[in-house]
Amino acid sequence: MKSQPTAFATKRNEPPRNKVYLTSNHMGVSRSGVTLIELLLVAAFLAIGIKAAYYFGIKHGTMGYVGGFLIGSAGSFLSFGCFGYCIGFLIGMITGFPEYPTCSNGTCQDREAPDSDYRYEDYNGALIARCKCGTPYIKRGRRVMQLQPNGETKPYMIWKPLRGWRRDETGN
Ligand SMILES: [Zn+2]
Repeated sequence: MKSQPTAFATKRNEPPRNKVYLTSNHMGVSRSGVTLIELLLVAAFLAIGIKAAYYFGIKHGTMGYVGGFLIGSAGSFLSFGCFGYCIGFLIGMITGFPEYPTCSNGTCQDREAPDSDYRYEDYNGALIARCKCGTPYIKRGRRVMQLQPNGETKPYMIWKPLRGWRRDETGN
């Protein structure tokens, strides 16, 4: 008589492993926890640092190793940071900067993540932003619409590159 393999049973009883958070990298959304992507990036920066350490170490000895590692890691980190900043800037030029216009009461502003008057919320799986007055807004491309209590959207503002946020006159 065959004994039941126990692998399944023990696996099922194992506590869940540390979760890797892969939340949407929506600009301005603060995330908790370190993402897998961030871990991979740090590993890549260190790998570039180690490569640079070998390269300079062979040529210049101990100081070459130390300097090469520091310059390689920090350099790759900085260049990646600049790259990300440029991408963010380009996206902002296309879809709006700041991401949300001043609210319909004229009081709330979208600023850098912790200081913004807008808070992101989940609305039936869609990402919406609610200003301090309590008005919910939803963004589609370069359009920002007000979310009505009945779930319908009302055009509010549209982003015009080089001209900024303008009243969205469509559908009125
Ligand atoms: Zn407001």
